[in-house]
Amino acid sequence: MHEASIALDLIRVAEAVSLENGGGRVLALTVRVGQWSAVVPEALRAAFPACAEGSLLEGARLSIQSVPGVGMCAVHGRVELSLQRGLRCPACGARTPELVQGDELELDELELAEPELEDA
Ligand SMILES: [Zn+2]
Repeated sequence: MHEASIALDLIRVAEAVSLENGGGRVLALTVRVGQWSAVVPEALRAAFPACAEGSLLEGARLSIQSVPGVGMCAVHGRVELSLQRGLRCPACGARTPELVQGDELELDELELAEPELEDA
């Protein structure tokens, strides 16, 4: 499943960040998902717990921040696009061939637990 491989990628990145910071568990993560990316947030949310099993992210809270699509209209500047209308300015209908924002899939925030200190 598409979203499972995405979840695994996110987990790999989050684990790398954690390891750079002492290798503690990841308690929570926030992911920015563009509404125009091919990712279905519900599917990602559903796939995540099983993918995180056995990793530093096991049991972590996953928050998904939805990022609307934004295009650039020659007349109206930055405009929010609707998926129904496609790459067209909602005000004048002109084509906005470039997606300025909305196709991202990125790790935004991580909440790390303190690395476990060894009793000695
Ligand atoms: Zn326009």
